[in-house]
Amino acid sequence: MSNPRNTDSDGTSYMEMIYLVNDSDFGIPEHCPCGSQIIIQISTEAEAIPKKYFVCKDFKNNGLHRKKEWTEAIEDETRCLKTKVGDNESRMRSLGGLEYRIDGIDKASQKNDGEIPHLGYQIDEIDKASKKNADEIALLEAIIEKLYNIIMLHFLCMIHSGTPNYL
Ligand SMILES: [Zn+2]
Repeated sequence: MSNPRNTDSDGTSYMEMIYLVNDSDFGIPEHCPCGSQIIIQISTEAEAIPKKYFVCKDFKNNGLHRKKEWTEAIEDETRCLKTKVGDNESRMRSLGGLEYRIDGIDKASQKNDGEIPHLGYQIDEIDKASKKNADEIALLEAIIEKLYNIIMLHFLCMIHSGTPNYL
C-alpha cells in the first residue's frame, strides 16, 4: 500500500473514499470513484492465461481506484440483469392489466362523450316541460280560484233564496 493521503482535494476522507470504492463495486464498472474513465487491461504478468480487467485509467494501488476482474464483473452484471429482467417482466404483466382497465375506462368515457350532448338536450327538454308545467299549474290555480268563487256565490244564493240555484 502506497502512502494513503488522509484527505482528498475535495475534503472527502480516505475512509469515505474506501467505502465509496467498495460500495460501488458491483457489475461492470462504468467509471472509477476517482472520476476517471474505466479501460480494459490485459495483464500478462507471470500468468499462463492472461487476465482481463476493468481498470481505472489512472489506477494506483492505494484502494481508491477501481480494478475488477473481467469475468467477475460480467457475472455480477448478468446476475443483476437477470433480476432486472424478472422485475420488469412482473411490472409489465401488472402494467398490461392496468392498460386493459384504462382501455375500458377510455371506451366508457368515449361512450359518455357521445351521451353528454344527448343528455344536455334531454335536460333542456325537461327544463322546458317543467316551465310549461309551472305555467299550467299557475293557470289551473287561477281556474280553481275562479271556480271556488263561483261555487261560494251559488251557496250564498241558495242560502238567501232557500232553493237550489244552479245558474
Ligand atoms: Zn480511479
